Amino acid sequence: MLLDTFGRRAVDLRVSLTDRCNLRCTYCMPEQGLQWLAKPDLLTDEEIVRLVTVAVRDLGVQEVRFTGGEPLLRPGLVGIVQACAALDPRPELSLTTNGIGLARTAAALREAGLDRVNVSLDTLDPDTFHTLTRRHRHQDVLDGLAAAEAAGLTPVKLNAVLMRGVNEDEAPALLAWCLERGYELRFIEQMPLDAQHGWDRSSMITAEEILERLSARFDLTPEPSATRGAAPAERWLVDGGPGRVGVIASVTRPFCRACDRTRLTADGQVRDCLFATGETDLRTALRSGADDAELAARWRTAMWGKKAGAGIDSPEFHQPDRPMSAIGG
Ligand code: SAM
Ligand code: SF4
Repeated sequence: MLLDTFGRRAVDLRVSLTDRCNLRCTYCMPEQGLQWLAKPDLLTDEEIVRLVTVAVRDLGVQEVRFTGGEPLLRPGLVGIVQACAALDPRPELSLTTNGIGLARTAAALREAGLDRVNVSLDTLDPDTFHTLTRRHRHQDVLDGLAAAEAAGLTPVKLNAVLMRGVNEDEAPALLAWCLERGYELRFIEQMPLDAQHGWDRSSMITAEEILERLSARFDLTPEPSATRGAAPAERWLVDGGPGRVGVIASVTRPFCRACDRTRLTADGQVRDCLFATGETDLRTALRSGADDAELAARWRTAMWGKKAGAGIDSPEFHQPDRPMSAIGG
């Protein structure tokens, strides 16, 4: 098992399949100039499947989420999903994506064994989408969402980040739109993980502000905290339910004490936290002939040292060197 000194057990693995992306969301990447990982440093499809196998079979991981960068840019994605779905015990398999290309691949991913998707969409307005992502791909995301639903990758979840002066007014409209379609919306507080280090605590939109904006239009009832488990989102029933909305308040109301995550980067480094400043290199071990037992032992050691919390809101906080797109969000 992947335990740490605070008694937490990591059962949820996030695997980054690439650090590259076809959008340039302002809270994530600069317009240009971001250095990509070198191709030879990236794990091959077979190496990814081998490490996921060790995690699931030997280390008690129960859920695997593929992310990036943009995971749909990984040519071998369907095959990776298929191999992971054949593992015993079979893990839950999900994907976090910007949705571009999902219209083409949703059915094949479902067929391969993918259970669910989280699609990131911050706005219903194509021009605002361009301001936020620097690309004209709004319709592609909408098409991807529809395809995910049609393929049965449900419940479809939406992730949204609100940015001051750009889409901050859109929270109620996004929620109404999601409720109409049966999508589960989760707002994520903007975190200091952008490559250009432009995050500013004083201008970020907090969970409290998001809830205030939503409450102007909807009646929100907190879901009992017992139903939250290790989920980072706090959830509210909307207008008495069954529709719900979540808020991931990683900055102002972090939920580190129940964290059950472990992370693998596209270049084969284990991270015990999004905000970790250190990593454990499994790629070199794997390529030097380490057997599965040794890889598992290294992974266990990496997680044992996990800190109590990320401490983003504390003055001592240091942003990790790697941006979110290279860690895997
Ligand atoms: N490209 C895919 C996508 O956008 O869904 C997967 C990777 S992306 C890094 C994963 C999630 O992280 C997205 O929902 C995105 O909105 C969110 N994200 C990226 N940068 C963020 C930041 N600085 N603060 C909060 N969330 C962020
Ligand atoms: Fe790409 Fe996702 Fe980052 Fe946007 S948030 S630039 S879609 S990796």
